[in-house]
Amino acid sequence: MSDYRIEQYNEVKREIANALASAGRAPDGAELIAVSKTFPTSDILAVYNAGQRKFGESKADELAAKAAVLPGDIEWHFIGHLQSNKVRSVVAHAHVIHSVDSAKLLERIERIAGEEHVQVEALLEVNISGEASKFGLTPEAAEELARQSIGMHNVKVTGFMTMAPEGAGEDELIRVFSGLKKLADRCGLGKLSMGMSGDFKTAIACGATLVRIGTAIFGKRDYSK
Ligand SMILES: *Cc1c(COP(=O)(O)O)cnc(C)c1O
Repeated sequence: MSDYRIEQYNEVKREIANALASAGRAPDGAELIAVSKTFPTSDILAVYNAGQRKFGESKADELAAKAAVLPGDIEWHFIGHLQSNKVRSVVAHAHVIHSVDSAKLLERIERIAGEEHVQVEALLEVNISGEASKFGLTPEAAEELARQSIGMHNVKVTGFMTMAPEGAGEDELIRVFSGLKKLADRCGLGKLSMGMSGDFKTAIACGATLVRIGTAIFGKRDYSK
């Protein structure tokens, strides 16, 4: 297949494998989440047909519309800011929610997942860099919430997610990603969602187990459409 997305997809997979090898990590140490937000279902199907099964979306309505028409064995990851009135819709489609940023939201997911008879996996979004403009819990609040979540039945907190500040240099990236890794180790949780198109190699070197990659696979997003 000569589709440019498939070439880019295969290149990203090679780069992930190389980054894992350079870090002395197992070849299956980091899962690729193909971030398909804003891209049409035809693009998702092309990458699906090349073997990818995990896709990331950041809007509840877009996720619902895509999940309704795409193959049922896709594992959907919700990576956007989750508003409380969208929890029911997201819980119905997403296997993993990467962006839980408050105790209230986690409690709501627990309740609604119970009502809908589904199990959801959740990651707590942490603001390691301390940037004022970003969503996310402080590391201290995330640690506390991880502890609180142990008694929950319908949502299982398995780790943490973070985003590096835009334009961060290598030192800052390492500081942010290693900070998340230390937090996860302290809490005894294994999943670390960190790294996007521009910084996933550094994230893998710092211990990422899930990388969320859009642009490097699908190309530049056009938000004007
Ligand atoms: C859009 C998005 C990504 C993918 O970013 P790229 O730079 O296109 O790889 C990853 N994570 C989150 C939370 C996003 O919103």
